[in-house]
Amino acid sequence: MIRDELQGALDSLTAEGLKRRRRTLDSACGPVCTVDGRELISFCSNDYLGLANDPRLISTAQAAATQWGVGSGASHLVSGHLRPHEMLEAAIAEFVGFPRALSFSTGYMANLAIVPSLVARGDAVFADKLNHASLIDAVQLTRADSHRYAHGDVAALSAMLAASNAKRKLILTDAVFSMDGDIAPLPELLELAERHDAWLVIDDAHGFGVLGEHGRGSLSHFGLPASPRIVLMGTLGKAAGVAGAFVAADALVIEWLLQRARAYIFTTAASPIMAATLLEAIKLIAAADEGRTNLTQRIHQLRAGLADTRWRLLHSDTAIQPIIVGDNAEAVRVAEALLERGLWVPAIRPPTVPKGTARLRVSLSAAHTETHVAALVDALKLLA
Ligand SMILES: *Cc1c(COP(=O)(O)O)cnc(C)c1O
Repeated sequence: MIRDELQGALDSLTAEGLKRRRRTLDSACGPVCTVDGRELISFCSNDYLGLANDPRLISTAQAAATQWGVGSGASHLVSGHLRPHEMLEAAIAEFVGFPRALSFSTGYMANLAIVPSLVARGDAVFADKLNHASLIDAVQLTRADSHRYAHGDVAALSAMLAASNAKRKLILTDAVFSMDGDIAPLPELLELAERHDAWLVIDDAHGFGVLGEHGRGSLSHFGLPASPRIVLMGTLGKAAGVAGAFVAADALVIEWLLQRARAYIFTTAASPIMAATLLEAIKLIAAADEGRTNLTQRIHQLRAGLADTRWRLLHSDTAIQPIIVGDNAEAVRVAEALLERGLWVPAIRPPTVPKGTARLRVSLSAAHTETHVAALVDALKLLA
């Protein structure tokens, strides 16, 4: 029976230490949250600037509900594109320095919209092996040839591009890798895109709001221009603290996505509350230099604190600080030991990361205090 097959598959997940479980929070997203009646210091969220529960955004959302209602009522191309959506797209385009932007309900959908709109049969996609699942899925929606290069390996990519005689070529990469925290070599990737007349699609889910001048993102971090061959995607549920995503690019590319991208056209527009709140969040991001400085200090504090311990931190300068454990069960055991001490750090296992590289993924935020990070360092030292 089909049900027996599922039961068998679930049982083997359990046996391999891969069974996932959700925990329910009884408090808002923040550095300290309530789970099962206990207060935990959380190192799990992507709320890098602590905006998810910001009082200024809460009152903006309340006022937006009063003015615009709670639902958009239709897809953008029918009648769901309200003034707050239009204003948000203009504000994002200006902030990231591209001619035009398009807003989405989620980053997953934005990626599913971009890639199949730009390449098809006879074309080729060149993707970093550690790209986010949403980018991998997006490639599967195209009929293009798919090539994957070793993580960050510019030489391997260059050779693949040179060997390809595909009609259109598209280079696809996370800007900040979501499970490793390192930054893609964007200047070299742009150079290769130019040399081989390829698109460069950049997923800046973890750089937008955090890296670059005033949080403008990974391109700003490298001082790269808004090249017409770059398609920049960013999410709005991480540093921006709300939900949603954007694609920013040349006006022609954005018009093409608006006309053709199925994941844009065939879905109800996000609530106007989200759009209005995000408009305010973009202003708060731009003004959050102090928060970003605090975040940098917390990153340094964690790395310095664990430098002479057995814990192996991956090389990362970003808010994502993975500690490689290796074995799935061991990663879960360490996470549980931390939880007993009131510290919530997720154990990330395959298939999210390659086999044998199970890890604790510490996510830091501008809302973490020195005391929060010191508590984590002390607990890890005791477990060493
Ligand atoms: C989170 C994430 C996404 C998906 O964005 P959502 O808005 O959560 O759907 C896409 N790409 C990367 C790299 C991410 O980390």
